[in-house]
Order: sequence, then structure tokens, then C-alpha cells
Amino acid sequence: MSATESHIAKEARFGAKNYAPVPVVVDHAKDCLVWDVEGREYIDMMSAYSSVSHGHLHPRIVEAAHRQLEKVAVMSRAYYGTTLGPLLEKLSEVTGFERVLPMNTGAEAVETAIKCARRWGHQVKGIPDGQQRILVARGNFHGRTSTIIGFSSEEDYRTGFGPFCGGFQHFDYGDMASVKAAATENTCAVLIEPIQGEAGVIVPPPGFFRELRQWCTENNVLLIDDEVQAGLGRTGKWFAFEHEGIRPDGLILGKALGAGLLPVSAFCADDKVMSVFVPNSHGSTFGGNALAAAVALEGLKVLEEEGLVEHCAEKGAYLFGRLREVQAEVRPLIRDVRGRGLWVGVDIEPSCTSARDLVERLAAAGVLSKETHDTVIRFAPPLTISYDLIDRAVDIFHRVAKEKWHQLGLDRRRNQQVITA
Ligand code: PMP
Repeated sequence: MSATESHIAKEARFGAKNYAPVPVVVDHAKDCLVWDVEGREYIDMMSAYSSVSHGHLHPRIVEAAHRQLEKVAVMSRAYYGTTLGPLLEKLSEVTGFERVLPMNTGAEAVETAIKCARRWGHQVKGIPDGQQRILVARGNFHGRTSTIIGFSSEEDYRTGFGPFCGGFQHFDYGDMASVKAAATENTCAVLIEPIQGEAGVIVPPPGFFRELRQWCTENNVLLIDDEVQAGLGRTGKWFAFEHEGIRPDGLILGKALGAGLLPVSAFCADDKVMSVFVPNSHGSTFGGNALAAAVALEGLKVLEEEGLVEHCAEKGAYLFGRLREVQAEVRPLIRDVRGRGLWVGVDIEPSCTSARDLVERLAAAGVLSKETHDTVIRFAPPLTISYDLIDRAVDIFHRVAKEKWHQLGLDRRRNQQVITA
């Protein structure tokens, strides 16, 4: 049995079967490169769904973790510490929000936002407690807790997990008329992703968020923006809401906030919203622990001082251009190339093949990506990626896509279409 086979067999034998990983056993990684247990090298075009935006094991962030590990790691929020305050101050500075509530995973920060919105709805807006309603988009992904999957529109995430928590109403993503139709006087918030990642990197129509912002303001409804995946540079701006020149009332961060080392998340809002939390109303044993705060703070400084957000905008435009060239060459294998910054969904024509098929071929050829649903391949490399590595990854994608194109006889089909057109 190879090392790869034996590691996969052990996970399969003892693990719950709630994942279907790509068959690559990662041993170690550095910046944008990853090596498996057989010593094969891969370009990481996934970066753990944006969690490794700084590149794997960024030396400054590892150094900050080491420094803190010489001092103290976990004390809980029963006491004050020396790293949490500076992190909260920095997050307030980069997000523009007055207050920050630290948690660990993305789902916990979403839960925090939901609790905050409901309490605000009751205490500030005057909705009877228990009647507060939150609007959510069809196709949303906000995590895996039982409350959150209760308002997912994805059957795989929900089936058999009921009963669900009420109080959520759906609208069609990107459609203002649908938002208005779903709202009632008890609506306290709209919870929304600026780009729907898990749904397939769906970018809403331009202007939608501006209209949504205006409608929320006019109707005294909080706009809660889930940037767990989109935030901290991924889209070529610090926060995706900046593309529309708006500001939400609450911002949810996760993934890259842990700077590739730890789970760190946060809910950010101004005082008038956040002040509904008082002692004993909410918390988390590990949220804001000393080690996590030291790592997250260094991660924010690295993003800023190394200009990774600007870097992302430039490299993202280049990646898009190159993937669109591949799309044009392998027609009709790729239906669409979409996204923003270094966050791209390549939508595969389902009558040709599945996204998973191409993801596995790409992995075998040395590029790590991941499918979402049956048709979309997601490319989201670390923001540190170079032009050279983008070229190498896209060249491999080009070769893999072209091989599939020939194998399926799409070259002949395209010629026929041209002749009969
Ligand atoms: N919100 C969004 C937009 C996400 O993409 C995710 C994770 N993919 C989450 C929340 C949940 O984050 P976590 O897995 O850390 O709980």
C-alpha cells in the first residue's frame, strides 16, 4: 500500500463520511505550493476556501504565533489579555466599524449576527420578541449549524436534520423585487453574501447592493454582510461591499482572519447595533483567545503592509483573462468564467462532464482546485500568487481541458456547429 493509500484508508476507516476529499494526501506546504506524502508538488489554487489568503505558513505570521506561544495561548474571556485589544482596534480601523465581537468559525460569527439582529429587532425596532424575521437569499451558504442549515435552500444540507428554527424568509439573490415581496413589518435584517461562493461564485447584478442598502435604510432593516469568504482582500478590495460603494450595518468575517493558521472569526458593527450584547448574553470559550488574536493581528498587518489586496486585484484580472482564453478554445466545455479578484468559478457544461472529473484530473496534473455543486470548479489561490504560478496553473488547466475536449470529440462537434450554422 502506498503512503497515499494508507492515509486515505485510515481516514475512510475511522472518520465519519461527511466529506468526499480529492485523493491528495498533503504533507506540507509553503506559500502557494503544496507537497503530498509521495513528494509530488501542487499549486494551491484553493487556499482552503480563502483561509490561506496569506499563503501557507507566512513567515511573519508563524513568527507571531511562536512569539505568543512563549507567553500564553488560551485563558478564555474571563480575563483580559494583551493581544485581543490590539486586534479589536485594528479590525475596527480596517472595517470602519466601532465594535468587534470575536468568535472562532464562520458559522459562529453568523450565529452571532443572527442573535444580534434579532435582539436589535426587538429592543430597538420594537418587534415583539419571537416575531423577528430575517431575510436570506436562495442559494445561500452561511455555515452548518442547525439554525443556519434550516434556512439553506440546498436539500443535501437539510434533509433529515429538522426540526428547523423558524424566522427566516427567502428571496431570489440579486432581485430587489423579490426582497420587497419577502419583507414584512417584522423584518429586522437581510443576511446576505456579497458573492455567493458555495452556490457557484454567483456575482449579483451591478447596482443590486446599492438598491438593497437604500431599501434597508428606508425600512429600518439591518443589512448584514457575510464576508467570511469574500472579505479581507479576496475580491481585490478589502471588503466586497466596497465594489458597490456601500456600507452594511453588520459585517461577518472568518477564514482569512485566521491568517492561514487558526480558526478566527468576528462580527463587526457600530455601537447602536452591537450594544444589544451585554454580559452573559453571548460568548465563546475560545473566541478572541490570546494566540488567535496575535495571529489574526499579524495577518491583518501582512495584508496591509505587503499590499496583498492591490496584488489580488492585478493578479485576479490576469487570471480571468487567461481562463477566458481557455474557455474560448474549448467551446462548449466551459459555459462561463465568473467571479471577482482571485476568486473564480469556471462553470462546466454538464452535458460534457462534471466539475469533479476535471478537479481530479487537475490534481493528478499538479493543480489543487475544488468543485462546488456538479458544475463549477473554484479557483481561489493565495493572494500572494505570482504571475508565473498563475501561468503554470492555467497552462495545466488548459492542457487538462483540451485533453477532455478531444476525448469527448468536442473539436468535431464545434466544427459541425460552425458548418451548419
Ligand atoms: N459564511 C460563508 C459565506 C462561507 O463561505 C462559510 C464557509 N464556506 C461560512 C459562513 C462558514 O464558515 P465555517 O466553515 O468556518 O463555519
